[in-house]
Amino acid sequence: MSKIANFTGMGIVDPQERIKHLANYGNMFDVDGNVPIRRYYRSGMEIVRMATVYHTEGNLENAYILYIKFMTLFLDKILSHPEYKTVPSSIKKPNQEKLKEILPLTEKLKLKLLERYKHEYTQFLANKEAERVREAEQAKEALKNRKPTDIVTPAPTDIAGMSTKSEFIPSAPPDLLDQVVYPNDFPSSTNKTNLPTGLLLPDTPKPVKPSVDRALKPASNESLAEGNLRSVLIPKDTMYKFLLLAAKNTASNVETCGILAGRLAQNKLLITHVIVPKQNGTSDSCTTMNEEDIFDIQDQQNLITLGWIHTHPSQTAFLSSVDLHTHCSYQIMMPEAVAIVCAPKYQETGFFCLTPNYGLDYIARCRQSGFHPHPNDPPLFMDASHIVIGDHSNIEVVDLRR
Ligand SMILES: [Zn+2]
Ligand SMILES: [Zn+2]
Repeated sequence: MSKIANFTGMGIVDPQERIKHLANYGNMFDVDGNVPIRRYYRSGMEIVRMATVYHTEGNLENAYILYIKFMTLFLDKILSHPEYKTVPSSIKKPNQEKLKEILPLTEKLKLKLLERYKHEYTQFLANKEAERVREAEQAKEALKNRKPTDIVTPAPTDIAGMSTKSEFIPSAPPDLLDQVVYPNDFPSSTNKTNLPTGLLLPDTPKPVKPSVDRALKPASNESLAEGNLRSVLIPKDTMYKFLLLAAKNTASNVETCGILAGRLAQNKLLITHVIVPKQNGTSDSCTTMNEEDIFDIQDQQNLITLGWIHTHPSQTAFLSSVDLHTHCSYQIMMPEAVAIVCAPKYQETGFFCLTPNYGLDYIARCRQSGFHPHPNDPPLFMDASHIVIGDHSNIEVVDLRR
């Protein structure tokens, strides 16, 4: 049983199936007609930004998933958005250019991945065959060492079917998955040198997506298709610098908000900038204005959106009903988006996100606006566990209010 789990867990399956699995993952999202369509076009640019980083870093699987996502979004899913017909050509045109660029790129990536998967599959089959031969050898050895009365003479297929180290198990078709025996199931044996060298491949196929503790794996190799959240690194001076520029508002009991932006590197998301837009704050709300200014900065610096930060001048750190809706649109576009709430009066800082399944879904469906009650059990939001406060102090603050 555990052998089967290992087998499928290692992702060593038919190469075409593996490609299909990546593509399916890239397809696995819906377009929400209640989210302004402009946000999807923004998000599309960020998807391409991330795909390019993965591609450059050699993480071809993640690059492929994101290119597929971009194409599915703009060749298909966006067409059903109620605002689709209203999108000006100044937005549609560059998007179509990007599509033309990405289409052949994705096809090329697919072929590269397919080649790699085929190679891994061949290696895997060869290893399996080597194990089978080794088992047969061991079975012969075991037979020789038994007392004459113990001898059971198995048919050749029975030898192949043997799956434990020291005793015979009734045979099964040799290519059943649970017949796969891994090299380290065996003590290193002197028989090894007798094996046909062509069958002895030292490398087992590279595990693609084993479901093991993520701490054991190098993060840069992790596939998006595993569904884990990537870490979000926050420079430790972020909150301090933001509170400094919010101080005047805070003193007059007015909220301040900013956008958290940054970049992708080695499958980690690094917050590098807080962009503070023109805004209208009250004691319990903050509305951004001139979003285009934010986009300009992001485009100039190739930044992706990683969440937002705001103050609660006189309250504790939590997400109000309005905050939950604000955050929802961030998290729909970027599953790792984080909401930082600074509550200087209580010396509290919260790093929040919507609960990935329930909260995100609930708020996305909630049609109310302004402050309104939500049920709070099960919880709609939680402390984000995928954030890491870095040791580095290099947050850059861009204040657009002046
Ligand atoms: Zn708030
Ligand atoms: Zn609501």
